[in-house]
Amino acid sequence: MKKLTTLFLAALMTVSVALPASAAVDIKKQHISSVPKMAYKNGIGKPQVIVLHETANNNASIENEVSYMSRNWQNAFVHAFVSDKRAIEIADTNYSAWGAGPEANKIGIHVELVRKGNFKQAYNNWLDTAVYYAKQYKIPMRFNAGKSGFVTHAYVTNHWGGTSHQDPVAWLKQNGVSMGQLEKDLKAKYNKGTSVDVSTPPVTHTPAPNVPSNLKVGAKVKVLASAKTYASGQRIPQFIKGRNYTIVQTKAERVRLKEINSWVYNRDVEVLKAPVVVVKPKPNYKKPNRQYAEKGIYTANTTVAIKYSPFVRANQVARLTPGESVHYRRVAFSDGYVWVQYMRSIGRLAWACAGQASADNSKNADKYGTFK
Ligand SMILES: [Zn+2]
Repeated sequence: MKKLTTLFLAALMTVSVALPASAAVDIKKQHISSVPKMAYKNGIGKPQVIVLHETANNNASIENEVSYMSRNWQNAFVHAFVSDKRAIEIADTNYSAWGAGPEANKIGIHVELVRKGNFKQAYNNWLDTAVYYAKQYKIPMRFNAGKSGFVTHAYVTNHWGGTSHQDPVAWLKQNGVSMGQLEKDLKAKYNKGTSVDVSTPPVTHTPAPNVPSNLKVGAKVKVLASAKTYASGQRIPQFIKGRNYTIVQTKAERVRLKEINSWVYNRDVEVLKAPVVVVKPKPNYKKPNRQYAEKGIYTANTTVAIKYSPFVRANQVARLTPGESVHYRRVAFSDGYVWVQYMRSIGRLAWACAGQASADNSKNADKYGTFK
């Protein structure tokens, strides 16, 4: 009986020790699928330090930070963000990230403290998350003491270089936490064990579409000369580039082009500024200087040109030979000549050149025939 009580008490004690002192932070795994997977200096799954950061943005929520990074990971990315509500792991901690210069990146897991929200709770979650990773990878409890243990981004800047940030020093100080206190709090968590719940299975997070608003169905785009491959991975032939196509379907990073029925990356196309309007070249004709309706019969006494417009530059389509007559209905003074308009036998209006105009276009000064 006594033995049983002891066992029961022991069980109770074990339970009470394992229970978290504060609410467990839950690390949600929402990995950005497109980030590169580069091993640490010591190999895959072998980080040596935990780099402690804060985001330096008062207004961004953890979701904002994650969303921003899913669109801008090419510039920089960390492993996880932690707020007062949750922790989100956006990159696999078995691989390196780009958070604090080359020396730290080769060896560190980067954990960001989000400013927005309740500081105490966020700070507590951040410590939990950092300690959880440290224990997972058997990183020892050391603080700002070389390439092992926990280091602040400021420590990296001051000792290893390649980066210039001083976080999280000022933000913690502003909230009453000195570097000495941070070390103490980390130690307390580390020695007690953390209460992080990592039951969430990893999910691959597709980055929010970062589609320029003008890349939409129906838009005309040009495939850039710099384009290398289709989204399928196949090489884009030279003759496809520099030409215009129509978007028929869009996805986060790519568009399908109607004329070649292929998916091309958004970065490889350029939207044409305005729809292409084919402007019919206007005949380079001036208006006749003067024209008016008049009916009559013109009989040529010399060979004269027939044109479809009363201008010297217009093409000649036929001619009248001496003695041929036309029933005209209109007279034009143009290009220094007098023209009469009549209906050709083929059913089309044409102009016969019927004389030379006076300088002031007032009269037919040199008639090429007779008028009745
Ligand atoms: Zn930082």
